[in-house]
Amino acid sequence: MPRVSRTAAAVTPAPADVRVGVLALQGDFAEHLVALRTLGVDAIEVRTLDQLRSVDGLIIPGGESTTIARLLIAFDLLEPLRDLIAKGLPVWGTCAGAILLAKRVPNLDRPPLAVMDITVERNAFGRQVDSFEADLKVAGIEGAPLRAIFIRAPLISRAGRSVSVLATLNDGTIVAARQGHLLATSFHPELTEDRRMHGLFLQMVDEAVVFRATSGSGRPPR
Ligand code: GLN
Repeated sequence: MPRVSRTAAAVTPAPADVRVGVLALQGDFAEHLVALRTLGVDAIEVRTLDQLRSVDGLIIPGGESTTIARLLIAFDLLEPLRDLIAKGLPVWGTCAGAILLAKRVPNLDRPPLAVMDITVERNAFGRQVDSFEADLKVAGIEGAPLRAIFIRAPLISRAGRSVSVLATLNDGTIVAARQGHLLATSFHPELTEDRRMHGLFLQMVDEAVVFRATSGSGRPPR
């Protein structure tokens, strides 16, 4: 079956069909599933260990980071997810998801996953009423700027040396960053019709699948 072209600006065709999970404990996971399925991706809700182990990449959606963190523990997913990330599972955190990935979150005692070398300030732009939109130029995304929606968003106040900054606001505030197989965005690409950010993550997932296939580490059976 021919692969579906994933973005308006063509993305390298995937070498194999990939399955992408969306952590579905709380938050706007449904919108991410719609975005992925529009791109022809096998996308599933992830609430169990078996589901988590069956995916080639995972999106942690926006929502309430403290709630998602508590539910990760309650559903026995926190440690397994951290292990899979250490083994190379590509993960994209949007908004609350970005907070969960960060190694440093000043107003959280113990950041839950603490896997990405970024410092993230929660609710950095103010309250719910201070939510806003902005046009962003994102490294790796061609064409017109991306319309980005920020809802009680975090900002990335510091990015370590192995982290690439992908997008900033006009004042230099970092709002998208990548470290190897990890991607963090302060905003919500799933709330617009523009699928290019999902396309970028799918490229990362494809890269990881190719790497696994060529390094012979294989993926766990589904
Ligand atoms: N303010 C939320 C938090 O700190 C994140 C908001 C969002 O995901 N839109 O978890």
